Amino acid sequence: MTFEKYTTELTTLTRFVEHYCTDHHHDISRKSHNITIKYAGERSEPLEALLCEECAEMVAYAMARLQGCPFDDKPKCRKCPNPCYERPMWKKLAKIMRYSGVRYGLEKVRTAMRFWEVETTAS
Ligand SMILES: [Zn+2]
Repeated sequence: MTFEKYTTELTTLTRFVEHYCTDHHHDISRKSHNITIKYAGERSEPLEALLCEECAEMVAYAMARLQGCPFDDKPKCRKCPNPCYERPMWKKLAKIMRYSGVRYGLEKVRTAMRFWEVETTAS
């Protein structure tokens, strides 16, 4: 995976989570996180996101897992011989993706879902 690809996917994911967090966790203490995406020896501009603790962890988790993906061209996770996502995290991610899809437009969500290999109830 290229640095650009990695950055794009994680930026999308972060925006999805942030949107979900805004609508669901507004009564929880949230703070601004400056997320620097590091991959393949390169680093992105800090990405600012307002997140609660739980959602910030979710982003960090996804980032760490994707970084650990040993494949140059990330295969379909479902077909991966060594899937790195734990089930509860998958479910949480799927919920966030579905919810945020309303705002971000289905096409972008489909692309993101394909990438993260999140199952939807609709398909
Ligand atoms: Zn949250």
